[in-house]
Amino acid sequence: MNGTMMHQPLTITSLIVHAGKYHAGTEVVSVETDGSVDRSTWGAVAANARRLTSALDRLGIDPGARCGTIAWNNRRHLEIYFGASGGGRVTHTINPRLTPEQMIYIINHAEDQILFLDRTFLPVAAKLGAHLKTVRHFVLMGPRDDEAAAMVDGLIFYDELLETGSADAAWPELDENAPATLCYTSGTTGNPKGVQYTHRSTVLHTLAGNQPDGIAMAARDVVMPVVPMFHVAAWGTPYIAAATGAKIVLPGPKLDGESLARLIDAEQVTLSLGVPTIWMGLLAGLEKTGSKAASMERTVVGGSALPPSMIREFRDKYGVELIHAWGMTETSPLGTLNQLLQKHGDLSEDAQAKIREGQGRPPFGVDLRIVDEAGKELPRDGETQGELQIRGHWIVESYFGQDQSALTEDGWFDTGDIATLDEDGYMIIRDRSKDIIKSGGEWISTVELENIAIAHPGVANAAAIAARHPKWDERPVIVAVPAEGAEPEESDVLAAFKGKVADWQIPDRVIFVKDLPLGATGKVMKNKLRDEYGDVLIDA
Ligand code: ADP
Repeated sequence: MNGTMMHQPLTITSLIVHAGKYHAGTEVVSVETDGSVDRSTWGAVAANARRLTSALDRLGIDPGARCGTIAWNNRRHLEIYFGASGGGRVTHTINPRLTPEQMIYIINHAEDQILFLDRTFLPVAAKLGAHLKTVRHFVLMGPRDDEAAAMVDGLIFYDELLETGSADAAWPELDENAPATLCYTSGTTGNPKGVQYTHRSTVLHTLAGNQPDGIAMAARDVVMPVVPMFHVAAWGTPYIAAATGAKIVLPGPKLDGESLARLIDAEQVTLSLGVPTIWMGLLAGLEKTGSKAASMERTVVGGSALPPSMIREFRDKYGVELIHAWGMTETSPLGTLNQLLQKHGDLSEDAQAKIREGQGRPPFGVDLRIVDEAGKELPRDGETQGELQIRGHWIVESYFGQDQSALTEDGWFDTGDIATLDEDGYMIIRDRSKDIIKSGGEWISTVELENIAIAHPGVANAAAIAARHPKWDERPVIVAVPAEGAEPEESDVLAAFKGKVADWQIPDRVIFVKDLPLGATGKVMKNKLRDEYGDVLIDA
């Protein structure tokens, strides 16, 4: 040994050990399925994570086995995140909003040996039970409950399971390249695919994602991940919170605007994360409750495009900064976050706000490019659109259970998104390649049309879709939900596009509906809308 540095494996275990040692007294607040509030601390969560690891050993769950969770954001789920992964097993978060067929497929494909469930999902488990080939134990995430015991044979109760473990149990030494967490894509087309994050990729994502230009969480923050823990590990929030020692508020099942507004005020939340539909609900909830969300400083928004009108409303009415981010299951998920550069300091407020509408730029650790259909790299001029590709320390290489690589020949992951990049790496998503509208051979961005429609005061939410057209192949049609109490005219909404996009990009129709169909991660399911309204121009 001569002039060497210590080598310590980058593991999820090290995150919870840190939180337990240096932030033991910091609160972990959790809304339970029955609406009650559970108050705990990082110290108690760290001790329970150790108890769980040793309890799983005693229960005979194999090393490296997948441990499934079907659960909301709550304290026990947090303990499983660290207890299962820290013990050398793989935490497999399952999206409860998937169809029963998809859930059966995923659980069998992952070969989960144990399933942790919130009370809400016990009936689902009872129904799926017979189809699950590998699950040996079902665990209700709570204390003993006789009514629940009658629903599932051999049901184990989490709180009793913990009592069989020891808070002094030693964490096993783990290889940083061992898998830690498994999450399946939501599978809008074909079967869901599993992405397995390693300890190392998770820790690097934690460190790089939390830079000042990233999530920028600090020990004095109160963070509330509204994005579910089954949606790409709540975008890494549990790990980042453990690393920084922030107080974490886990909102449980009630994600409507009014419940969130109350929780923000009660717990003095400063930082939150979620998809745009959640924040649309929160805006309505703040109106209703009269809350000013005074403690809230900033919110990271991604998963689908953040409408600029929402950025303005949060800023002007509530003083909340919305930070636009982009990512996907395959990217852990942080791929870009939007903060300004030093050179933007001289720009007008409007010009700065305009830059912040896009999805932002990659943090150190990931790299982006756009390519044409032949895979040739396209210019970074902020104008040319191409297929977005990504590579980096926390990007998928191959899907779980698949031997072949998921990458291009030269080692990039193709995101399926169409984007522009500028010379500083600021990326703007124009569309998903399967959603973009191709009118007479030219592309029209659905994101751009939606942003204009949503900015109309009579419109609460809107989706732009490609409708079949006899002459142009496809033309844009807006499917819109009127704002509460509003009765907007089609012609009036269409007039809002004038001057904002080229005339040939103005939609042909606006169709008003009560709700938009939302998928398992809260995104508008445009394929459903295309099925329903794809022929409106032909039928007419
Ligand atoms: P899925 O939607 O397939 O369930 P993901 O949650 O992994 O899976 O979604 C990733 C996709 O979501 C991206 O490829 C992109 O199309 C879309 N997306 C994510 N963030 C944004 C954003 N900020 N703006 C626009 N689209 C986004």
